Amino acid sequence: MGERITGKTKLIGLLGTPISHSLSPKMHNEAFAKLDLDYVYLAFDVGNEQLEQVIKGFRALQIRGCNVTMPNKTKVLQHLDQLSPAAELAGAVNTVVNDNGVLTGHITDGTGYMRALKEDGIDVIGQKMTIAGAGGAATAICIQAALDGVREISIFNQKDAFYERAQQTVQNITSKTNCQVRLFDLNDQVALRREIGDSAIFTNATSVGMKPLETFSLIEDPTMLRPELVVSDVVYIPQQSKLLKMAEKQGCRTINGLGMMLWQGARAFELWTGEEMPVEYIKQLLF
Ligand code: NAD
Repeated sequence: MGERITGKTKLIGLLGTPISHSLSPKMHNEAFAKLDLDYVYLAFDVGNEQLEQVIKGFRALQIRGCNVTMPNKTKVLQHLDQLSPAAELAGAVNTVVNDNGVLTGHITDGTGYMRALKEDGIDVIGQKMTIAGAGGAATAICIQAALDGVREISIFNQKDAFYERAQQTVQNITSKTNCQVRLFDLNDQVALRREIGDSAIFTNATSVGMKPLETFSLIEDPTMLRPELVVSDVVYIPQQSKLLKMAEKQGCRTINGLGMMLWQGARAFELWTGEEMPVEYIKQLLF
């Protein structure tokens, strides 16, 4: 790494908390090294409180861009100059590009998720999806799934601050696509069983299953998961969440968050550098 740093090396940051578990620094730095690109990627433990100052600092230092993760994906919007159409619709940003002082927010999680399903040979176009979550990741997935032609989406979330956001997502999807989308309270277990019952895929896009909630699963009753259902989790640490372990035991096909992470990263890499990430190489190295 030391040999790669020059007087012209451009910095890409990652802003979130907790952050030390992230695979993104390794993914991007290995890809920069492989393609001999003069960039370096560093993670910064940054929460909502420090975000404004950090973005100001990024502007002052003319940093090329950053990834933004929990809990900053929505908060960051107010500090940017413009948004991509998908980021605007999702109300969330995971990638920022600095073009000569103009900061543009993008969201690559949704395209990353849909690409990961496709790469795994899972076809959900024209089918029904049930998804838990209404935060940055879930919203991006719902928007992209609807744009790509998923027929019906049932969203479940607990009645926290994210629930209102999910109502907005329902409105956005309804106004911009032909997808039938409905929102339910996650506490309504009867509705959850019913909606999963005729879905092709169930997706956990909440932080449940990831540290510090790694001993929990949103689904507690395994009989909600029939063998024909694909069960996907955006969580990738641990690689097999409690939900995915349960689903595997039920005979379901499972997919963790690694593929989404890889493909959202590949798109962000392209936005910063204009180059294609060497995806196969990174996959071998990381997974
Ligand atoms: P966020 O803070 O924007 O949203 C958090 C979501 O989790 C909300 O829907 C919230 O209601 C829900 N939630 C939190 N605690 C809960 C609980 N105890 N019970 C039920 N629901 C609860 O976060 P985000 O950025 O959307 O990230 C969510 C998850 O997705 C995280 O685990 C993150 O690591 C993962 N993620 C993975 C990728 C990937 O590439 N695989 C990308 C982005 C996020």
